[in-house]
This record gives sequence, C-alpha cells and structure tokens, in this order.
Amino acid sequence: MTPAPAGAPDRSPADLAARFEREFGKAPDGVWQAPGRVNLIGEHTDYNEGFVLPFAIDRTARVAVSVRPDSVVRLLSTYGDHGMVSADVTALDAASAKGWTKYPLGVMWALQQRGIAVPGLDLLLDSNVPLGAGLSSSHAIECAVISALNELTGAGLEPEEMVLATQRAENDFVGAPTGIMDQSASLRGAKGHAVFLDCRDQSVELVPFEAEPAGLVMLVIDTKVSHSHADGGYASRRASCELGAEVLGVKALRDVKSGDLAEASGLLDEVTYRRVRHVVTENERVLQTVQLLATEGPGAIGALLDASHASMRDDFEISCPELDLAVATSRANGAIGARMTGGGFGGAAIALTPLAEEQKVRAAVERAFAEAGYKAPEIFTVTPAAGAMRLQ
Ligand code: ADP
Ligand code: MG
Repeated sequence: MTPAPAGAPDRSPADLAARFEREFGKAPDGVWQAPGRVNLIGEHTDYNEGFVLPFAIDRTARVAVSVRPDSVVRLLSTYGDHGMVSADVTALDAASAKGWTKYPLGVMWALQQRGIAVPGLDLLLDSNVPLGAGLSSSHAIECAVISALNELTGAGLEPEEMVLATQRAENDFVGAPTGIMDQSASLRGAKGHAVFLDCRDQSVELVPFEAEPAGLVMLVIDTKVSHSHADGGYASRRASCELGAEVLGVKALRDVKSGDLAEASGLLDEVTYRRVRHVVTENERVLQTVQLLATEGPGAIGALLDASHASMRDDFEISCPELDLAVATSRANGAIGARMTGGGFGGAAIALTPLAEEQKVRAAVERAFAEAGYKAPEIFTVTPAAGAMRLQ
C-alpha cells in the first residue's frame, strides 16, 4: 500500500492548512514536516550500540496542528479511510489506541512521561512516505508530531531528547522494539548528507552524500512484501545478538572487532556466530563507507553495499527471495551496488545506479518480478533531503 499521491510535487502546506480548516473549522497553529529515511548501510547494528548511516529522504509526513482549550484530541489522516479518531489527552492508553493513531498518541504519551504537559489538539496528517516499505513512515509521523509539540508546548527539547522520546513512544506505546536510527535520520538529517550515527552515544556527523553529481541515482525498489517489526524474526535476531554479547563478555556487539571473530567462533554456536559476524562486519562496513564517501565519493561504495547484502542474506538471514531478486537483477543490469535496506523480511532494496542505466535497471527488475510471479514492485528514486522542520 502506498499513500497517494506518492511523491506529488505540489503538496503545499497551504493546501493542507486549508483542508485542516475545512475539517476542524479553524486554521491550524502551524504545519510541520518530517521525512522518512533510507538506510544507506548499517543494518541491525543500532541496537548493538554500533554505527548506522541513514539519510532523510524527499518523502515526508506533514502535520497541521492546533491546540485546543480542552483535553480532547482529534486525529485525521488524508490517507485511507480511517475517519476522525478522538481520544482524551489525560487518559492516553496504549491498549485502546488503534491503527495509525498509535503514533501521534504515543508521542503525546512519551512527552507526558517526561513531565511535559500536553494539551488537547486537532491534527491532520498527510504523508507521501510509502507505508511498510522499510522507509519508516511511522517515524516520519512521530517526528513530525514531536516537532510540532516541542514548539506548541514550549518544551524546548533538543533533537537528541526528541529522538529518545519517539523511541519511547515506539517501544512502550506502539510496541515495536526499534532503536534510534530512524528518528535520528528524520530529526537530524540534512539535504545532501547522510547521518553517520554512533548509536552508543548518539553522536552524529553529517557526511556529504549526493548521488547525482557523481552521475548516479539511488533507486528504491519496494518489493511490496510486507514486514512487521513485531515479528518473531526481529525479536529473535535481537536475542541472538544479546546472547552473543553475553557469551563474549562485552557490553554490546559494538565492542567486538573482526579480528576477534576467529576466537568467537569457538565460543558460540554456529547460528549465533553468524549473527555476530554480520553485526561485526556491518559495523566495519559503515566506517569504511564513511571514509570512502569522504575520499572518493559515492561511486566507490558499491562493493560495500553488495557485501552488506550478502551478509544479511547469508549470515543474518533477514532477506527474502523478492529482495534477493531485486538486488541481483539491479546488479546484473548496471547498478554499481545494491542491498536490502531496513529491518528485513520484506520491504525495500536500494540500488545505486548510474543515471545512464536507470531505465534499464527499472525495466529489468519489473520484468524479473513478473517472470517470477511476484507482485509488481514499486521503483522510485530518493535524494538525501532535509530533516524535520516547521513549514508554516
Ligand atoms: P514503516 O515505518 O516501515 O513504514 P510500520 O509498520 O512501522 O512501517 O508503519 C506503517 C504504519 O504507519 C501503517 O500501518 C499506518 O498505521 C501508519 N501510517 C503511515 N503513513 C500513514 C498515513 N499517511 N496515514 C495513516 N497511517 C499511516
Ligand atoms: Mg516503522
């Protein structure tokens, strides 16, 4: 499912404000937006206190919001047929929150947990981040909402604090055991840059990353295979990593280096060893990618993307046939590097592709999916874009 109109260039904040006024009978106090993200490299390293390198994309969730004098919360999305949902801000409850409203209500709840007084409000959401494609449509909503509430409540939270509050919302209200990568990209990203994030101390370095000046384009291939983080696969990978760290006597797998792997193989069972090897080598690939982007530019990182995919497919075992086909077909038709991105078990792949080969890759992937009898993929380009901001 992809929100329509996907990627429409003419979504204007003024139109959203006008729609808000039609729905709620008054003008919004403001319009905020926050982007989805693509992870360039560094998968399942975040909860191992390691490194990730996501970038904010040119697909955003926008919220028009106005504060109410009472405790009523009214929520409406332009996508789907959800209808208006009401809640009481003094009685937010994860068990009774339904569907997409878990995300805004979870953010309000997480702010309350920090002692911030959250008022009743009316909120209209409009997003063109594809849902469930691994581009973090859920965090785009949360980050847009927290940006709005940070201003409207006068809370004055720093981006790092907003990251932790949205993580609390996802973990303890939505019930998804996610790390801090997605929010960090959405809240701290910048145009033309990837966000090099150290998940141990939340330090961020913005790394110049622009495909087009290098004659490249970043294709996202949404396989339409739906994933769910609440899924056993994600939880069991986390459990394997925790077990690996415990047996190896480290605080987190971040503290293991590839030079330690030979010894680790004698201490761990075969499956746990491969899970650990993925995390350890993936962390090193992130560091190498950051270095190569600085010295040689995006044209030099293809082999690292390929190695990341092989590691996720063979060692971490979180790929699926559709993702493998998207990656292999892209590479066979001119992409210089490709990998699945996001939590795995479905979602999207990325393919860094020379501009001249873009159409060939697109056509080849579509053909390969049709021949395999898979659902038609959705293929689009993304560029590293600005992080969360107020629009009006
Ligand atoms: P991802 O974050 O990878 O896109 P999730 O399952 O975490 O996948 O989040 C997808 C959920 O976010 C959807 O099921 C829906 O509840 C919500 N969502 C995303 N975009 C919208 C939207 N425009 N309107 C309503 N709900 C949305
Ligand atoms: Mg999500």
